[in-house]
Amino acid sequence: MKKMITKETEVKQLVEWDKKHFLHPTSNPKEGATTGPSIIFSEGKGVYVKNAIDGEQYLDAMSMLWNVNLGHGHQELAKAGSEQLASLACTSSFKGFSNEPAIQLAEKLASITPGDLNTVFYTSGGSESNDTALKLARFYWGLKGKSEKRNFIALNKAYHGVTMAAQTATGIPTFNEFAGSNIDGVFHAEAHLLNCELGDQDDPNYANSIRGIIEREGADTIAGIILEPVQGAGGVNMPPEGYLQAVRDICDEFNILFLADEVICGFGRTGKMFGVDNWQVTPDMMSIAKGLTSGYAQLGGVMMNEEIRQTFANYDGVLSHGFTYSGHPTACAIGLKNIEIIERDNILENVKNMEIEMKKGLDYLQQKYPFVTKSRSLGLLSAFELYEDPATEKLFESRVFPANTVVNESFKQKLIVRAVGAHNQGIAIAPPLNINKQEIEDIFERMDAALTAFQKKIK
Ligand code: PMP
Repeated sequence: MKKMITKETEVKQLVEWDKKHFLHPTSNPKEGATTGPSIIFSEGKGVYVKNAIDGEQYLDAMSMLWNVNLGHGHQELAKAGSEQLASLACTSSFKGFSNEPAIQLAEKLASITPGDLNTVFYTSGGSESNDTALKLARFYWGLKGKSEKRNFIALNKAYHGVTMAAQTATGIPTFNEFAGSNIDGVFHAEAHLLNCELGDQDDPNYANSIRGIIEREGADTIAGIILEPVQGAGGVNMPPEGYLQAVRDICDEFNILFLADEVICGFGRTGKMFGVDNWQVTPDMMSIAKGLTSGYAQLGGVMMNEEIRQTFANYDGVLSHGFTYSGHPTACAIGLKNIEIIERDNILENVKNMEIEMKKGLDYLQQKYPFVTKSRSLGLLSAFELYEDPATEKLFESRVFPANTVVNESFKQKLIVRAVGAHNQGIAIAPPLNINKQEIEDIFERMDAALTAFQKKIK
């Protein structure tokens, strides 16, 4: 018999079922099976979410997984979804089938994405978008009579998802190496070697740069370069000024496609509609997901430019790639409403204003705690780092797990933040984009208490 969760069901029972029947993503399975969840989200309003286990409100300073950009419990998004669900929940988009929300959203996306990006291929999330971008790039070069152009360059510390091609492009070893599931033909360059990309061959890192790899492998074998405008899960790593333009120039010089992974940066996270807009750079393809619907439905996509669109439009065969949920009308209706709200409520302006408050809070922490350093924010994509001695860049001993410890202390303060970075030294903060000044102050009051507790622990 199917188990129904009734109001009377004890939270304890839910925890037991979770331990027994729910294998959690990106989690420690042993811990999951023994300790169970620390939080069972039950309801949310704005930046706050309720935990059914302790009945307390938590401040979601990560927008869950950098995606709930308009915050929790947004009734207009719920209404857009429920209206579409009630009228026509799901359709196919294969072979001549289409639906209104998917068409309207495609037109909207064409109008807000930079340059001549004007066509979308819909997916259900970020990993699917990146796998799609890589496959479509290979398909494009095949149609151009250059099928030997099939390899890709990605960056170390990149996160592009967990499907096999996206996992391969990911430059974080634990994800990249998981279950030995890589595809062939992906090379990793060191992140953000601006001088090399500008042509400095004397730089000792040159061989590991994008330019160095292209010279070694031959441009006629490289289909595309994929990167996040600002790296997210790899540590909230900002590119140096001029970097994205340098990559754009390399792509033009060597006839390579520039694939921007905007899964985190897109839809206002950095204070511009898209991350690349901060540097006025236009990629050839752009992966989108997360903030496209603020997480109210599973939707992603790949935007492509006019040249790619035209090339595909002249192909008189079957494009044998597509998902059951490509162009899902309910997800698209929510996406449309989400963009309408971002524009109507001047969310980008709020992000720029709240970036100032975020930086004030980060400065305060950095002045108060000698081990807090390297704080940074672009829009509401923020991080700081924990070093035993920032002056000499001495990291804490690995057994300290500084970021995990601060995340745990934050959790005790009912604050949700996330550990990032290769040495467990980074803390990411990325709250919903409609957050206000008081709520940002609330983040920093709780983080202040968490860092005080951390300081006591390391003494
Ligand atoms: N690209 C980036 C930049 C991401 O941050 C993520 C998710 N964190 C993905 C791709 C994968 O998206 P999804 O989890 O929706 O597959």
